[in-house]
Amino acid sequence: MNVGVSGLVAGYANVILDLDGTVWVGDELTSRAAAAVAAMRAAGLGIAFVTNDGARTPEEYVQKLWALGVTAAGDEVVSVGSAITHLLCEREPGARVYVIGSPAIFRHVTDAGHTIVNGTPAAERADVVVAVAHPDFNYRELTIATRALLAGAQLITGGRDRTYPAADGTSPGTGAVTAALEYASGTTARLVGKPDPRVFEVALERLGPGRTLVVGDHLVADLGGAAAAGLDAAIVLSGVTTADQARAATNPAPVAIAPDLATLVLSS
Ligand SMILES: [Mg+2]
Repeated sequence: MNVGVSGLVAGYANVILDLDGTVWVGDELTSRAAAAVAAMRAAGLGIAFVTNDGARTPEEYVQKLWALGVTAAGDEVVSVGSAITHLLCEREPGARVYVIGSPAIFRHVTDAGHTIVNGTPAAERADVVVAVAHPDFNYRELTIATRALLAGAQLITGGRDRTYPAADGTSPGTGAVTAALEYASGTTARLVGKPDPRVFEVALERLGPGRTLVVGDHLVADLGGAAAAGLDAAIVLSGVTTADQARAATNPAPVAIAPDLATLVLSS
């Protein structure tokens, strides 16, 4: 059976989909999410997937999407790491960067043409500190990064999320690491994760022209971030937002509120 897309979605050329809470929750797709993505592809819509999670590379997200039955290509996934690469590309190549983060974040810094100074005497004189929460974060990293920041380094971080849902329970998020670095150094971080519009701007560069709809589950990150990028957003209730909270959002208001991605996207 070939199910078409809803009138709302048919009015757009491109759709940017949040992953966690929208396409999947943990390791399971939201109801009929694979059919929803397939229907949008069949209707000729451009698709991008965006996430504030910097733990994995875009290729690893693509593998997870395929494993769950959703077709996706590597350049369709824009993570907070992709946004870090994008921001770092605005600097002259060869900047010294001290990295707090997963192996994926190290690769995003290298991709931008910069030199990682972790483990070298230059670490405390880095030009830039990039910080994203990771499971092996330690006091030594905090110390080196603080010294680099006090000496004038720029601080770039993946966001201000206080916590995130790890497999073994709630864990401190990148916001907690960012707060520690800001407090110790007196500097203010440059954020690249949603609601900063950069992840959406990177996605738009890849999607090309045409009206673009953001679909996400978070009022601040997705609805607010979309507005900052000049885009419409629809809110799905399969993640962190309740129906009452979504209906109360007025500035901006979502263009639609739906129980899940498939209900928003599919025509029947
Ligand atoms: Mg989400």
